[in-house]
Amino acid sequence: MIGADNRIDGVTPSRLEVREMARSFPAERRGEAPGEVLRDISLSVRAGEFVAIVGPSGCGKSTLLNVIAGLQEPTSGYVALDGERNARRLGLVAYMHQRDLLLPWRTVLENARLGLELQGMPLNEANRRAGDLTARFGLGGVEQAYPWRLSGGMRQRVALLRATLPDQGVLLLDEPFGALDAITRADLQQWLADVLDREDKAVVLVTHDVEEALLLADRVLVMSSSPGRIIENITVDLPRPRSSEVVTDSRFVELKRRLLAALGLHRGAAL
Ligand code: ADP
Ligand code: MG
Repeated sequence: MIGADNRIDGVTPSRLEVREMARSFPAERRGEAPGEVLRDISLSVRAGEFVAIVGPSGCGKSTLLNVIAGLQEPTSGYVALDGERNARRLGLVAYMHQRDLLLPWRTVLENARLGLELQGMPLNEANRRAGDLTARFGLGGVEQAYPWRLSGGMRQRVALLRATLPDQGVLLLDEPFGALDAITRADLQQWLADVLDREDKAVVLVTHDVEEALLLADRVLVMSSSPGRIIENITVDLPRPRSSEVVTDSRFVELKRRLLAALGLHRGAAL
């Protein structure tokens, strides 16, 4: 049962399955075929598993996350959460959009605590939980600022904090580190890995960055475009915790080569 606090019996789903899912958009002009964006997408992510999705720009990664999150419905096939098909998904999974979508009339802290508020947490506790993490997210001292005052990278960090704070079992992240400088990026990647190691979330991370996928994920799915399909499923059998030094590990280098080859970017150059 879905309660008023948006949880099913107090616990949000933590297992995700997508089966033979397709998604088309209506034709732009009369007489044209509808635009097929995703074709025959099947994937499953169990509780505690971290899956990364890489693929070229425009192949449908954000559309896939929108469908999983319940913002759009599949044209065919289905999404199941904890085995329940096409259940009402909106609000049950945590989702950090590619665009940060911060509320302009709310401060950094008020934006960050939004998901906790929606779960019914008292404001003073939500403030404390969000406030405890602002420094780690490089947001110390700007808690009371409004989004228009922030850089793109800072806005993205607020959006990441907002998505990860509520304790939802499925977490969808759409290029969460895209606009960050290298140091913040490495720090937040490590933070995410640490946090998720201790939790049993099912995580789907969309990224352009093959090294990021290998650093964080248990499995990497590679997509191709027109229409978007999953063409590779690569298990990342590297021990955890993975430090930034793992990039020199020969298994890492081999996995990276396989991923780049699947993406069609491998031109025999030194990696
Ligand atoms: P990615 O995130 O991999 O860059 P998107 O999922 O954003 O790709 O987009 C995939 C394709 O779907 C693009 O060709 C885009 O133009 C198309 N698309 C996305 N949303 C819509 C929509 N609402 N209506 C029509 N086409 C769309
Ligand atoms: Mg996208």
